[in-house]
Amino acid sequence: MPVYKAPLRDMKFLLNEVFDYPGHYTRLKTGENATPDIVDAILNECGKFCEEVLSPLYQSGDEEGCKLDNGEVITPKGYREAYQQYAQGGWQGLSAPEEYGGQGLPASMGLFKQEMMGTANWSFSMYPGLSMGAMNTIFLHGSEDQKQTYLVPLTEGRWGGTMCLTEPQCGTDLGQVKTKAAPQEDGSFKLSGTKIFISSGDHDLTENIVHIVLARLPDAPKGTRGISLFIVPKFLPDGNGGVGEANGVTCGSLEKKMGIKASAPA
Ligand SMILES: Cc1cc2nc3c(=O)[nH]c(=O)nc-3n(C[C@H](O)[C@H](O)[C@H](O)COP(=O)(O)OP(=O)(O)OC[C@H]3O[C@@H](n4cnc5c(N)ncnc54)[C@H](O)[C@@H]3O)c2cc1C
Repeated sequence: MPVYKAPLRDMKFLLNEVFDYPGHYTRLKTGENATPDIVDAILNECGKFCEEVLSPLYQSGDEEGCKLDNGEVITPKGYREAYQQYAQGGWQGLSAPEEYGGQGLPASMGLFKQEMMGTANWSFSMYPGLSMGAMNTIFLHGSEDQKQTYLVPLTEGRWGGTMCLTEPQCGTDLGQVKTKAAPQEDGSFKLSGTKIFISSGDHDLTENIVHIVLARLPDAPKGTRGISLFIVPKFLPDGNGGVGEANGVTCGSLEKKMGIKASAPA
């Protein structure tokens, strides 16, 4: 079985000798937490987690694959425990803003983490990777209320996230998106449509999944200009940081694919 060894020596050489990371980041406000000791400790711990926890699950996870059981996706043996360790270690919030529960470290620290995780176990890394897409979207475009409701549990890794663009009739050409969003009297929107190939579209790693969905309002112009973004949680937030009743989103099937069978495009 292939064994992953984190390239810490190369990474530290690049950081310290080539890019003068400490000199660069300790001058920036966003980098004041990235002291050489902290950076060193994070790289060592991340390498250990990837070598000892994620890498041993890569082959077994691919052989076992994900299963769809009564509309719920079950990840392979060991994935739930590995994800718990990942979330409890604060890894999802490594480069997320401190005001939403993150550690406020530079985005480049997150890139080193993603590089190690992706090489140790690409299937596993897809779950937190897609959450990162949802986090960035809500951080950049969400209201303060949406940030408090969704960004905080996403940053803690208690909730996962997805990016729902692709539909049966459109992938690259998103101008053909058909999913409809109908405004409701209470200010919410009722979405109807089908998405395919959604990485981490359903799984059993987190207590909720926050889907970022591309859809069209009734009066939207044709093409990409008429696309809006909606937050569609698998379970509706209960207003206290937890989950309430199930929303109307369901997983119809798992995609068949080569090489990353432990990742769940649904
Ligand atoms: C493992 C996996 C995970 C995925 N995860 C997600 C996800 O999380 N969320 C999500 O929304 N989607 C996801 N996708 C879907 C992915 O984004 C689409 O596959 C992608 O957008 C391409 O769409 P398509 O497969 O329909 O190919 P097509 O759009 O049919 O493209 C096929 C080929 O035609 C070319 N082409 C298409 N239109 C044009 C044009 N107008 N002019 C010139 N060339 C063109 C493309 O460049 C490509 O080479 C995933 C796919 C895979 C395989």
